[in-house]
Amino acid sequence: MPGYGFGFGMENLNGKYEVNGKKKEAGGYGASLKEDARYFYGASLGMSGRGEAVAREDNYCEIEPKTVDKYGIPVLRFHYKWSDFEVKQAKHMQETFQEILTNLGATITYGIDSAANDWGLAAPGRIIHEVGTVRMMDDPKKGPLNKYSQAHDCKNLFVSDAGSFVSQADKNPTWTILALSMRTSEYIIDQMKKKEI
Ligand SMILES: Cc1cc2nc3c(=O)[nH]c(=O)nc-3n(C[C@H](O)[C@H](O)[C@H](O)COP(=O)(O)OP(=O)(O)OC[C@H]3O[C@@H](n4cnc5c(N)ncnc54)[C@H](O)[C@@H]3O)c2cc1C
Repeated sequence: MPGYGFGFGMENLNGKYEVNGKKKEAGGYGASLKEDARYFYGASLGMSGRGEAVAREDNYCEIEPKTVDKYGIPVLRFHYKWSDFEVKQAKHMQETFQEILTNLGATITYGIDSAANDWGLAAPGRIIHEVGTVRMMDDPKKGPLNKYSQAHDCKNLFVSDAGSFVSQADKNPTWTILALSMRTSEYIIDQMKKKEI
């Protein structure tokens, strides 16, 4: 049975998932292949959750003093940990997914996580929707930008992208980027009229 480059060939599943309670060698012929086909036959679906990383002061990045990239620009060093909030979100998702699937009458064949792996929570930075690094904070010692995404240290510098975010919700960042950019634009117009910048 061919695999079409996306891993849905039946033979690729051998050795990966248990079939009737046991893992088998990859490949297969005859009765064993029929057993696989019967076991995996039917509609399958998967669920993957997104949650919100809460804003935490002790999650931050800084310039790494010794390492530079191939252009000679210093790289960033990240200090970022999940807290109990994110772990509990993942647990709730996992339990909700299992409840939905079980009530649908589905047989769950893979992906059951537990406290041992933080309920399947991926490492910080693994998933897409990159935001943050120059967060907005009223106190210049705690964040480089003010609430208008203007640099505390340089009044003529505005960061109108996702860099100013202090956390990332489970939804897409683009609308928030646009809303913040609009607020920044209105502030710039106001400040220019007042000849503050
Ligand atoms: C696969 C994928 C799918 C996504 N889908 C969605 C979606 O459907 N909806 C949604 O809202 N969001 C989505 N996102 C998230 C969204 O793309 C990001 O949150 C958003 O692009 C962040 O915008 P940004 O301008 O802050 O950063 P970026 O778009 O990452 O821009 C940073 C820019 O800085 C440049 N740069 C970096 N270092 C330097 C340097 N030293 N000098 C000069 N330039 C530099 C980079 O080349 C880049 O152009 C997705 C992201 C990914 C990866």
